[in-house]
Amino acid sequence: MPALIIDGSAIAEEIREELKKKIAELKSEGVTPGLAVVLVGEDPASQVYVRMKGKACEELGLYSETIRLPAEYKEEALLKLIDDLNANPKIHGILVQLPLPDHINETKVLNRISPEKDVDGFHPVNVGRMFIGDPGFLPCTPHGVQELLVRSGNSPEGKHVVVVGRSNIVGKPVAAILMQKKKGANATVTVCHSKTKDLPSVTRQGDIIIAAMGVPQFIKADMVKEGAVVIDVGVNRVDDPSAKRGYRLVGDVDFEAVKEKASAITPVPGGVGPMTIVMLIKNTVLSAEKTPGRK
Ligand code: NDP
Repeated sequence: MPALIIDGSAIAEEIREELKKKIAELKSEGVTPGLAVVLVGEDPASQVYVRMKGKACEELGLYSETIRLPAEYKEEALLKLIDDLNANPKIHGILVQLPLPDHINETKVLNRISPEKDVDGFHPVNVGRMFIGDPGFLPCTPHGVQELLVRSGNSPEGKHVVVVGRSNIVGKPVAAILMQKKKGANATVTVCHSKTKDLPSVTRQGDIIIAAMGVPQFIKADMVKEGAVVIDVGVNRVDDPSAKRGYRLVGDVDFEAVKEKASAITPVPGGVGPMTIVMLIKNTVLSAEKTPGRK
């Protein structure tokens, strides 16, 4: 039987509705959640992501500042800007869009963001909190994957989750989140990467497969167990002369073939993507809720 298609846009909408109530409550107390997004340079994909984040803030009535800086902007000046945002009471969340130009040290910049405003969850303090299971900001895409699983009725509890990819922004944190001794987690997690031997024999053991590799349509039907749940984090541009823009987006999973074998699967686009942005807003609201003096 073909798989259930997990509708990330609908689940993201469900979360947006929940957030609207929290935002209204905060506003009634005089607190408007505020997000600052910093973009250095003109990377086309980054520009799209930054626009989408600004639009999401606007739609939900958040205060948002998008700070666009030239590619040659100096690291020292960027660090000073972050210091100012850290001190700005209107701003509850700071996000620096990655990648940064080569002359800027990414780690130095991310580490400068106050952990209390680090709504991307990349600061080492928040990474540590996530790992030990302390409440804090969870990184948006991995947290979105967890929400997709739970809200689509595919809780990872007790399941064998096979993650393909070990990056600091997706693979490692999604593994750390799903292995926690917590509701909506409690999974047995295996993490694979480019040095994994006989990858298909590992992915075939997964009750849930999370593909986060950045390799178009790499996960084929013969790598997936009958009835597995497949979450496709990948976003890859492939040439398509028949498309208006000359390319189309595909995931890391061979969707058409795998959907015939899986019990549930996320599409690309419309799966994990919409979740990432809504989790960013969720973290910003969470940060605003911690405003000193609130009940
Ligand atoms: P990275 O390039 O940082 O990491 C890719 C990981 O996949 C690495 O760990 C790499 O292994 C592993 N890998 C690559 N090729 C293979 C292979 N043939 N076999 C096994 N493992 C392999 O990518 P990201 O984690 O940043 O992103 C992954 C994908 O997710 C991308 O398509 C990206 O665009 C997308 N993405 C989507 C988001 C969304 O909101 N939907 C957000 C963030 C990312 P090794 O470590 O050994 O090199």
